[in-house]
Amino acid sequence: MHIQQTQIERKIHLNMNYYLGIDFGGTEIKIGIINDTGTIIIKNKYVTDTTKSGDEIVAHIADCALELIGKSGIPKSAIKGAGIGSPGLLDPEKGLLKVVTNVPQLNGINFAEGIGSRLGIPAFLDNDVNAMTLGEFFFGAGKGYKHIIGLTLGTGVGGGIILNGELHRGASFTAGEIGHMSIATDGLYCPCGNYGCLERYIGKDGIVTRFTAFKNKGIETSIDKYLEDGKITPKAIAIAAADGDKLSTEVLSETGKILGIALATLTNVLNPEIFIVGGGIANAGDLILEPARHELIKRAYTIPARAVKVVPASLKNDAGIVGSASIAVAKLK
Ligand SMILES: [Zn+2]
Repeated sequence: MHIQQTQIERKIHLNMNYYLGIDFGGTEIKIGIINDTGTIIIKNKYVTDTTKSGDEIVAHIADCALELIGKSGIPKSAIKGAGIGSPGLLDPEKGLLKVVTNVPQLNGINFAEGIGSRLGIPAFLDNDVNAMTLGEFFFGAGKGYKHIIGLTLGTGVGGGIILNGELHRGASFTAGEIGHMSIATDGLYCPCGNYGCLERYIGKDGIVTRFTAFKNKGIETSIDKYLEDGKITPKAIAIAAADGDKLSTEVLSETGKILGIALATLTNVLNPEIFIVGGGIANAGDLILEPARHELIKRAYTIPARAVKVVPASLKNDAGIVGSASIAVAKLK
């Protein structure tokens, strides 16, 4: 089903390589085609019908992609490959989905083979945060760097690690779980089973909980002016902070400080050249990133801390499609 269609008119170059990006999520699927400079040629959004079986979902995604390729005017032979970015636990080497929490009928489905065989082009699967990090590496803020750590700040805190120009997936393909770094000895319980995980403090709920605790203590704030449906959200806190609300600024600053503690550890362990921070909460920009830089410099070894950059992600709304397509770019470049 079509929600919205945006077609960017661009001249199709037959000697150029194209890549299909499929950004799969529990509620919607974004599909697009990029050229080898990372420009989106055509894109569309579709609904994930969770009442359907796993095989039907695979067939639906492939049908949507084939329709989009048809509309683009790009011959299928010029599309070198498809990259699929998905949440959940997966095996990128086999192209297999293992645990997709919100769409459990996909557990055990070979997504890459199922979609790729229907499309008639090679398809590759990876998790959505690795996809975002690859997208920034090839076409965004990470262009020209070899040692990159991508972070997404949202409901959860995700991470993708590129070392020596290659994605670092680890022995069980679970590397990059930055949100579950322990940052407190006797910290808050985390659904992963641990106590004191980073995500519990600077994920969406963590930020709101910290803000609410201060507000309930009677600390003055103008947050009520910025609420949608009366709910305190990181977005409302960011808007209030930009408008001069002191408590909001302090909570975001503290968020940046906690992020900086994690970045300092990552800097000492991995010595990256650049941290690229994306996700909804990162829209608060320097209100979070500046205290993070400060804390990083304060805590990490001087040489790697002074050298590493902390920057916002640059792909923004197209990060999902460009990132997913970049999974194929990484395999086929
Ligand atoms: Zn955890």
